[in-house]
Amino acid sequence: MSDAYLDYIEEISIEISDFNPIGPTAHMPLPETLPKCNNGIINIQNNDDWCFGWSVLGALHPVKVHPERNPHQLYGSFVEELNMEDIPIPVPVSTPVYKKFEENNPEISLCVYEWHNQNECLEFRYVSEKRGKEYKQVNLLVITEDDRSHYCIIKDLYKLVYNHSKHKGRKYICRYCLHVYSSEKVYSEHLPKCKGLNNTFQRP
Ligand SMILES: [Zn+2]
Repeated sequence: MSDAYLDYIEEISIEISDFNPIGPTAHMPLPETLPKCNNGIINIQNNDDWCFGWSVLGALHPVKVHPERNPHQLYGSFVEELNMEDIPIPVPVSTPVYKKFEENNPEISLCVYEWHNQNECLEFRYVSEKRGKEYKQVNLLVITEDDRSHYCIIKDLYKLVYNHSKHKGRKYICRYCLHVYSSEKVYSEHLPKCKGLNNTFQRP
């Protein structure tokens, strides 16, 4: 056995001792204060580092029955659709990375939100500048804990923000500022004019 080979083994064993069996972005539970049901969230049960990609694909290809289970099986055939070039995996909470992802995937308009556990409200992490209806809208919730982060699909932003609202009937929520409209017409007029509310707390 050569010395070079021994060095190689040593290096591997160090890596294994640092290995976190849960994985940096494997499935994480929803934040404590986030409403547990009827919250509009699909929390993908991945066991790899790909929760961002799975969540984007799950948002683009909705599945009715257990959309959170077995992402490889449900969304594996769509993986080629995404251009993840120069995107670090796991995907960090980072504006330049989200911008790069949108550049790579010009048809996608991405918004990323995070639930503030203490204030029990949604905060913006990234708001797309692509505002037209021609874009495919992807809204993601990111959960961060220490240095781990995990992405979920926001299937229904209105349900997530206004979960406790007693108002029934169809409502339209602006994904750039979280204002709610009961008229589709007024909502459509607002969209191109919306300036967004970056980094502002949004209370239901
Ligand atoms: Zn708006």
